[in-house]
Amino acid sequence: MRSVFQYVRPSCLEDAVQFLGKNGAETVILAGGTDLMLAMRKGDVECKYVMDVSRLKELKVVSLQGDHLVIGAAVTYTELVESDLIHAQAPVISAAASCVGSEQIRNVGTLGGNVGNASPAADSIPGLMVHNARLEIVRRGEFITKPLSEIIMGPYRTPLIRGDLITKFLIDRLPHPYHAVYQRIGRRRAMAIARINLAATARLGPSGAICDFRMSIGSMTPQPYRALSVERMVIDKRPDQGLLTEVAALTTAGMLKLSGVRSSTEYKKPAAQGLIIKSLSELFGIPINEGESQ
Ligand SMILES: Cc1cc2nc3c(=O)[nH]c(=O)nc-3n(C[C@H](O)[C@H](O)[C@H](O)COP(=O)(O)OP(=O)(O)OC[C@H]3O[C@@H](n4cnc5c(N)ncnc54)[C@H](O)[C@@H]3O)c2cc1C
Repeated sequence: MRSVFQYVRPSCLEDAVQFLGKNGAETVILAGGTDLMLAMRKGDVECKYVMDVSRLKELKVVSLQGDHLVIGAAVTYTELVESDLIHAQAPVISAAASCVGSEQIRNVGTLGGNVGNASPAADSIPGLMVHNARLEIVRRGEFITKPLSEIIMGPYRTPLIRGDLITKFLIDRLPHPYHAVYQRIGRRRAMAIARINLAATARLGPSGAICDFRMSIGSMTPQPYRALSVERMVIDKRPDQGLLTEVAALTTAGMLKLSGVRSSTEYKKPAAQGLIIKSLSELFGIPINEGESQ
C-alpha cells in the first residue's frame, strides 16, 4: 500500500536542520528519488514527512578546503562528471559517476543518495574509499563527522537513523601526480548495476617503483573493501605482470576470507582477479597477455 505523507522542501540548510530537529523521527530524506521512490512505491517506506534536499545550495557545493576536496551530498552524477575540480582532484569519482545508469539517472541521482542507499554495488563507494572519504552528518541539530567505512555496515545497512542528514563528503586530496582507474563489470552495458567494481590510484617514484597505492573493490564483501595489506606489500616494487598477478591473487583471497564461499564465488573469484589485472595494467600502463584478464 502506498503511504500518505507531507512533502517539505526547505529553502536553506538552517531551515532543514530546524525542521529535522523537531520532526526528524518522522521524516525521510529525498534527494534524486531514484532509489527512494521505488521503495516508496513498493510500500517499504512509511513516514509522515518527506523532505526534499535536492535543491539545498549548501548541499550542492564542490570546493577545496585545505587538504580536502568537499563534495555536497546533493551533487548529482552529471555534476560530478562535469566538475573540473573533481576531475582534477578525484578522477576515480568522476569516472565512476560517468558509469552510472542512464543520463536521466545521472541527472538526478546524488552522491548522498548512493551512500544513503548503501547498495554493495554502488558505483561511488570504491572511489570514495580510496580517498578516505568522511561524511558530515547533521543529527538532531548536531554536526558530526564519520568515515565512510563506518557508514556502510553491510548491504543496504547504515547506522543512519530517521532524520539524519548527510550534508557533505570530505575527500582526501592525493599527492600529485598520480594515476587513477575505475572499472566495473556489469550484467550488460546499458543501465547495468555493477556486479564488481574497482577504484585504484597509484604514484610512482623517480625510479619507477610504487610509492603510493590504494585500491578498493565493491560488491565482493559485505562492507566496502580496501586492500590495505596488499597496498603496503607493493610499496617500493616496480609494477610488472608478475606483481599484478600476485596482487590479484592476494586481494581475492583477502576478500573471500571476509565474505566466505558462496554460490556466486565460482563466477566472482575469477571475474575479480581478471578485473584487478585489467584495471592495474591500465593504471600502470603494462600490456597484459591475452587470457590474463578473462
Ligand atoms: C534505472 C536505475 C539505474 C541505476 N543505475 C545505477 C548505477 O549504475 N550505479 C549505482 O551506483 N546506482 C544506480 N542506481 C541507483 C541510484 O540511482 C543511486 O543509488 C543514486 O545515487 C541514489 O541517489 P538519489 O539522490 O536518487 O537518492 P534517493 O533515492 O533520493 O535516496 C536514496 C536513499 O538515501 C537517503 N538519502 C538521500 N540523500 C540523503 C542525504 N543527503 N542525507 C541522508 N540520507 C539521504 C534517502 O532517504 C534514501 O534512503 C540506479 C537506479 C535506477 C532506478
